[in-house]
Amino acid sequence: MSELYERHRAVLPQWLALYYREPLELTHGEGRHVWAADGTKYLDFFGGILTTMTAHALPEVTKAVAEQAGRIIHSSTLYLDRPMVELAERIAALSGIPDARVFFTTSGTEANDAALLLATAYRRSNQILALRNSYHGRSFSAVGITGNRGWSPTSLSPLQTLYVHGGVRTRGPYAELSDAAFIDACTADLEDLLGQTRGGAAALIAEPVQGVGGFTSPPDGLFAAFREVLKRHGILWISDEVQTGWGRTGDHFWGWQAHDRNGPPDLITFAKGIGNGMSIGGVVARAEIMNCLDANSISTFGGSPVTMAAGLANLTYLLERDLQGNARRVGGLLIERLRAAAARVPAVREVRGRGLMIGIELVRPGTDEADPDAATAVLEAARAGGLLIGKGGAYNTSVLRIAPPLSLTVAEAEQGAVILEDALRAL
Ligand code: PMP
Repeated sequence: MSELYERHRAVLPQWLALYYREPLELTHGEGRHVWAADGTKYLDFFGGILTTMTAHALPEVTKAVAEQAGRIIHSSTLYLDRPMVELAERIAALSGIPDARVFFTTSGTEANDAALLLATAYRRSNQILALRNSYHGRSFSAVGITGNRGWSPTSLSPLQTLYVHGGVRTRGPYAELSDAAFIDACTADLEDLLGQTRGGAAALIAEPVQGVGGFTSPPDGLFAAFREVLKRHGILWISDEVQTGWGRTGDHFWGWQAHDRNGPPDLITFAKGIGNGMSIGGVVARAEIMNCLDANSISTFGGSPVTMAAGLANLTYLLERDLQGNARRVGGLLIERLRAAAARVPAVREVRGRGLMIGIELVRPGTDEADPDAATAVLEAARAGGLLIGKGGAYNTSVLRIAPPLSLTVAEAEQGAVILEDALRAL
């Protein structure tokens, strides 16, 4: 055990999970690569759980951060903050929400917390609809709407949460349905639930592609169908875009756009990639919803100028280089390549995903039984081959998660696929 790992274990909570038998200490990064303290170079297919959105040590972001830090490092409260206004204007315009207002936080958890605060205050209800197998963060309220039991350490939530179908369809009664039949079944389930319960839910919150839950996407249009039901009841739709925002899914800038028959969600929450590693989170909503609070609700560090400078530089880079298009093209090649490799590996149940958000689900060969040990073995083998990936999943962490920085090149995708193929074959 390394000296740092020993100290980590002695002073930090045991539930602060680390990957690998010998945990890694990363010391620097560049582009799609990171280096460990022992000098080993790794191709990074996880980007710190999708936080490194464009590239490691992107000079444009580093320069913007250094320049702003050299001027003033400050809270964004009480005084005007130019970088915050500028980033809010850009996100409001990109959100698709009319008359949008943006509130900045420092994490995805806090963004969802703010969305819940707004929705419950607006609707005068503490009832929330969430999807089974969801992950929305680690605050007291966010774990209360997190369906994935591996990430919801207490059930003593201040919210009354009802879990609806729509997240996972790889198991259970919905598994065999066509896309259209799945949408119909989930929508009927939602209607039935609303009819049975003492109503007035504040909102439905959902990830367009479940991230921690193993990169599972519902069929396109599911949330448009949900939306018709929700609208009849006056219930808001919150799209948690913490993992799916900013072009990650390739075909769309936001995950909700795969479901946009009836327009944008009422609220969007975001975090992770926008700061390219700096801590930015936030919520976008129509003015009518955002302004419903009758008391101040500030975030001391949300919108602080150094993080906003990072966000602005990162967003500019992303849009100018069309990294969404890159995610679509390179992600499309990568998923095809991985599907071909996986066809020869009996432990692979499914390779799925969109853009640069790809999941490989592992089972005990010949069964439907999730195999977390296989996922751990592939994670270790990939590392030994020089590749970092992640894992997650509805059924006991048996899904490999692949989400490289969006500037991934075709050559890097091919190199990573070769390492992964070897790691899968060694199973
Ligand atoms: N929502 C989703 C969909 C997430 O994936 C995460 C983080 N994994 C969060 C919310 C919470 O974000 P944070 O860890 O920044 O609080």
